[in-house]
Amino acid sequence: MFQLPSPLQKIENEWTKKFDIQLYIKRDDLIHAAVSGNKWRKLKYNLTQAKYENKNTILTFGGAYSNHITATAKACELLGFNSIGIIRGEAYFPLNKSLQFAADCGMQLLYLDREHYRNKNISPLLEQIETNEAAIFIVPEGGANEYAIQGCTEIVDEINQQLMENYSTKNFDFICCASGTGTTIAGISMNLRADQKAIGFSVLKHDTLKQEILSRIPNLKDNFSMQAAHFGGYAKTTPALLQFIRDFYKTNNIILDYVYTGKMMYAFFDMLSKGFFPSKSTIVVVHTGGVMNANLFEE
Ligand SMILES: *Cc1c(COP(=O)(O)O)cnc(C)c1O
Repeated sequence: MFQLPSPLQKIENEWTKKFDIQLYIKRDDLIHAAVSGNKWRKLKYNLTQAKYENKNTILTFGGAYSNHITATAKACELLGFNSIGIIRGEAYFPLNKSLQFAADCGMQLLYLDREHYRNKNISPLLEQIETNEAAIFIVPEGGANEYAIQGCTEIVDEINQQLMENYSTKNFDFICCASGTGTTIAGISMNLRADQKAIGFSVLKHDTLKQEILSRIPNLKDNFSMQAAHFGGYAKTTPALLQFIRDFYKTNNIILDYVYTGKMMYAFFDMLSKGFFPSKSTIVVVHTGGVMNANLFEE
């Protein structure tokens, strides 16, 4: 059902050669077409816990284009859970493709005004939720909780094993991924050795994400940094970004989305080309998925 471990693939280009860098991409986008990337990592132990608590309905939150909503809807369909998606804002019909997909998976979609959504206060919706409260397991927006972090630590375990078995390489020095809530980078950073560093590329237009993560997760090591990679704001694009994504596809046959992984990869190669990484470094970039919802290639 899920392709795990996800493949680890080597990338070479003019910059890796110029700076003598070993670069690998962790293809979490290939875990599942719809439950892709870090969304499965984050759901895995949430669903395990729900099952353990005998709860058969997953309730979660997201915006109208949320990868987390589509992934949760599909994972629940595949694994036999009912699902309820609380969507920020008003309902628009016809549904956009992401929400239509979620509905087709059997997810009950309910809309919450921004004020209540901010506090995740679902009281205006209780009448519409027919499921017995005792059967509901709540996963926070973006899947950002301790079970999600636990799932994301496994990215590092898989990479370590694959570097050893497939590339006879013992260690990596840097690991990079796109960050929204920062849950994925938190799980990764928790599982690093002392000499390894993680870099998150924040796609949101604020510079407090690292502080937020550190205060939310007290036992986290301070072994990660945050780079701004928002290109003007969440889901905003620039012609240069879109061109980069097209070129990356032509060269590597790997699709990046323009909300997360395209921005991360662009900003990463920008750092690489400016000599940020010491030569002989081994670097892993994580493809966190999210391609299905990016319709860039449907032109
Ligand atoms: C949701 C998502 C992210 C953000 O992950 P966080 O754990 O919230 O930081 C990154 N990349 C893709 C493709 C995503 O869908």
